Amino acid sequence: MPGVTIRGLTKRYGDVAAVQGLELRVEPGELVALLGPSGCGKTTTLRLVAGFLKPEAGEIWVGERCLSSPAAVVPPERRRMAMIFQSYALWPHMTVDQNVAYGLRLARTPRGERDRRVAEMLKAVQLDGYGSRYPGELSGGQQQRVAVARALVVEPEILLLDEPLSNLDANLREEMRFEIRRLHELFAITTLYVTHDQAEAMVISDRVAVLQDGRVAQIGTAEELFERPRTRFVAEFIGKTNLIDGVADGTGTVARGRLRLRVASTDLTPGAPVAVSIRPHQIELAPRALPGAPAAPGATVLAGTVVRASYLGDGVDYQVRIEESDVVLRVAGPAPPRVRLGESVSVSVAPGACVPLPSERR
Ligand code: ADP
Ligand code: MG
Repeated sequence: MPGVTIRGLTKRYGDVAAVQGLELRVEPGELVALLGPSGCGKTTTLRLVAGFLKPEAGEIWVGERCLSSPAAVVPPERRRMAMIFQSYALWPHMTVDQNVAYGLRLARTPRGERDRRVAEMLKAVQLDGYGSRYPGELSGGQQQRVAVARALVVEPEILLLDEPLSNLDANLREEMRFEIRRLHELFAITTLYVTHDQAEAMVISDRVAVLQDGRVAQIGTAEELFERPRTRFVAEFIGKTNLIDGVADGTGTVARGRLRLRVASTDLTPGAPVAVSIRPHQIELAPRALPGAPAAPGATVLAGTVVRASYLGDGVDYQVRIEESDVVLRVAGPAPPRVRLGESVSVSVAPGACVPLPSERR
């Protein structure tokens, strides 16, 4: 089974560069999510891979075959790829069986084999017994399963999905994430999965490529991106975070006014602008009146006041104003609440939880 290699891919619409020098490698059998805000070039990238668009620069390789370059584009029907869209795009006048069999019919697969493969595939997507229904007689989730079955039954080398779950309601969307992951583990087809939903990307994929302005800002496992974001954009896009802009003050400290944060890195250039990312759940809160647990070695301990406390059932979302600074930190604390609105608290953050990032402002 082949992987996909994208080198220096560029596509412009008039003055807009939808994709700008995009680099990406998808290993054979891997599922990579393309994650990013609306307009960052996800759909354009997928359509370039599918062969619907011609790039101005760069190349797309599948295994040893170059499928796209400014010189030549292999047409979609000769790419051995299948694509699944947000809108399912099922044929309303065809039954589930006929929808799923469509690609096999085009390929002139003999009737007996066709029926067998359609039945097997409907079983795999848990739609056994639905073959003679019409799409209009199915729920949104079932229609999505038909679209998945129709794509997989032709045994594509590469599977492309563009926001396939965004038309489903929230509960179903969550369930279908696990379903898509299960099917990926069953068939292990090299897959590019486009979404703007961070949690969806993290659940479904082996690795996530965060796209920004038509480029890959960072690629890694969900954990790598969450724990070690390399830019402000990635830190803010993957999970919630506190970003504190300051200046490196010595090699392991960042200063903002009178606030001093000890950070994980020791290779900061004194005087350089730095943004520090701190995840809300990595901040410890304790009432200032109590001695509290001893802070982690080297931790930064700050005095603050709780200015907001929202009870969320499985936790409490706090905002804490840090004394003698303009910083308000978001803190995720356990439920039931240990501190109250208006209470004076002590805040402690371990150096390992303070991730320094280049301070580029966008
Ligand atoms: P995404 O799927 O990440 O939301 P798209 O790839 O659809 O982003 O679009 C990327 C950029 O290219 C956007 O600025 C969008 O407006 C522009 N764009 C996309 N398709 C066209 C088109 N057919 N004509 C002109 N501009 C387009
Ligand atoms: Mg899109």
